[in-house]
Amino acid sequence: MISEFGKRGAIAGAAAAAVVAGALLFAFAGRSGAAAQSSLTVRLPPPVTDTIYGAPEARGRPIVVIDPGHGGRDPGATSVSGQVVEKDLTLALARELRDVLVQRGRVRVAMTRNDDRYLGLDERAAVARRLNAAMFVSLHMDSAPNPLARGATVYSLSDVASDEEAARLAASENRGAGSDASDGSVQSMLSDLAMQGQMSASADLAARLVQKSAGRFELRPNPHQFASFWVLRRADAPAVLFEAGYISNADDEVLLRSPEQRARIALALAQAIETDVAAGARH
Ligand SMILES: [Zn+2]
Repeated sequence: MISEFGKRGAIAGAAAAAVVAGALLFAFAGRSGAAAQSSLTVRLPPPVTDTIYGAPEARGRPIVVIDPGHGGRDPGATSVSGQVVEKDLTLALARELRDVLVQRGRVRVAMTRNDDRYLGLDERAAVARRLNAAMFVSLHMDSAPNPLARGATVYSLSDVASDEEAARLAASENRGAGSDASDGSVQSMLSDLAMQGQMSASADLAARLVQKSAGRFELRPNPHQFASFWVLRRADAPAVLFEAGYISNADDEVLLRSPEQRARIALALAQAIETDVAAGARH
């Protein structure tokens, strides 16, 4: 069902990197006679290509970027049984969500990763910006010291965290972003007007997600939370971070590892995404 009909490449970025790499090599050769003898082989980073998935009838439709959290050397949380890590479950759910969205044909889909690789938060958000995405949905699995905590939570972008736990989660998810993601700089950027619009559109999307999910799978009490997630801020689109449940809870772990349960989650997410795109008529 999945056809790939769009690719974009940031060739200019790769060319610029080649010039820089060349300059560094010459600088090095100037200091070392041995290096001057070696051949001038410059290893180029591969050009950036974004795969866009869509049914033929979805040509020209809005693009939703799905971001499977963690990956590569960053496994995310480990489940209570010790048998599974967050990065694998987020990728499984992301692929299932992609497939159901493509099958339904109302939007197109891109993924920040489709294999087990490490990506910085800015690299993830950059996919949404390159594609002028209508929406950015980051998928995660929660973990808490309290083994009884369970259920899904939807976080939308805000300059003020809704509670201590939301603030702690954002701080931990922001760790991969480097010093720029310190609370202060996120907060100062959140003050401009564009940001206010992005925050309110993100809150609308999160409310729709909660609405479509209610009664179909376990939600946390007060499932819509707010926090200053760097990856959401940088997406330049309505953006939410969806924690599908707690893999630190034995019951949630069983559910989240079940393809049938994930299919229920993916369908609810897909319906909320489509409703949001239709309501906002973005792009
Ligand atoms: Zn996570």
